[in-house]
Amino acid sequence: MTPLLDIKNLRTMLHTGLEPVRAVDGLELSISKGETFALLGESGCGKSMSALSIMRLLPEAAEIVDGQIKIDGCDLLQLPEAEMRKVRGKRISMIFQEPMLSLNPVMTIAAQIEEVLNQHFDLHAGLAQERIKAILQQVGISDAARRMNEYPFQFSGGMKQRVMIAMALAGNPELLIADEPTTALDVTIQAQVLDLMRDLQQRTHMAILLITHDLGVVAEMAHRVAVMYAGEIIETAPRDHFFQQPAHPYSQKLFAALPTRHKRNQGLAVISGQVPPLSQEFHGCRFADRCPHAWALCRHTIPEWIEIAPNHRVRCHLFDQQAPSLRSASAAEM
Ligand code: SF4
Ligand code: MG
Repeated sequence: MTPLLDIKNLRTMLHTGLEPVRAVDGLELSISKGETFALLGESGCGKSMSALSIMRLLPEAAEIVDGQIKIDGCDLLQLPEAEMRKVRGKRISMIFQEPMLSLNPVMTIAAQIEEVLNQHFDLHAGLAQERIKAILQQVGISDAARRMNEYPFQFSGGMKQRVMIAMALAGNPELLIADEPTTALDVTIQAQVLDLMRDLQQRTHMAILLITHDLGVVAEMAHRVAVMYAGEIIETAPRDHFFQQPAHPYSQKLFAALPTRHKRNQGLAVISGQVPPLSQEFHGCRFADRCPHAWALCRHTIPEWIEIAPNHRVRCHLFDQQAPSLRSASAAEM
């Protein structure tokens, strides 16, 4: 089956400081219809940059320098901007962590949803109003007929996030990208918004790319997960297998440092050491400076993907069949 979203070798450079930074460095992932795929990692690892690259909504200082981002076989990076505008909202929508930054404070909720509808459908005014009401009901906003004429400040944080989801769903997208959609919400509201997303997915069969730093959110939502570190994915697996057997030393540290596996709002554990500067070119494993298992091989050879179980792949020399001999041979070099 062809995946809905298929990303190959995506590279996004950021030009803000003295040296260009490899914010996304060879990203590969694919998502099927109806699937929730979680991209897990610490802040600054390139998750949001990956999302903005897919939407082609990067800040001016960033540029995509290589790769393919295919939706149903169509490479978004080859589309003229006018065509890309039709893709946004209609085929792929995005919701962000902070709804206040995305909602216009001086427009009613109805007017904002109508703007999205007008971009993609030719609805006459009466029908648009009906559709807006139905969308708001769908995301659990009661008394939608009245509330649609209110302004964002009249909505609580959780309700604003529901409005954002409503706006994102107005064009019936096939893929929803949700960048830390519940991080700014308190625990109870967070659970409600996640429930809502899952419920909507079952009804619409849309795919979700869920960006998060929260293992609890991954446990609850994802079918598959990929762990991102320093601009690249270092492990990917079906959710259950990942939770049973996280393989990459970085993934293991994420688990080890959590008080309980499913505890919410913990964020990711602080792991000693620094993420390497992404301005440099890597000749070995990016995690070597923080990895308790690192040996000489790790510093001069980039680990390749190794499949350790069905659909569970990891980039780490520990899983390389040939590595043990190399390991003892190179132990003296350390
Ligand atoms: Fe650690 Fe080496 Fe594996 Fe990198 S390749 S995670 S340094 S053991
Ligand atoms: Mg982010």
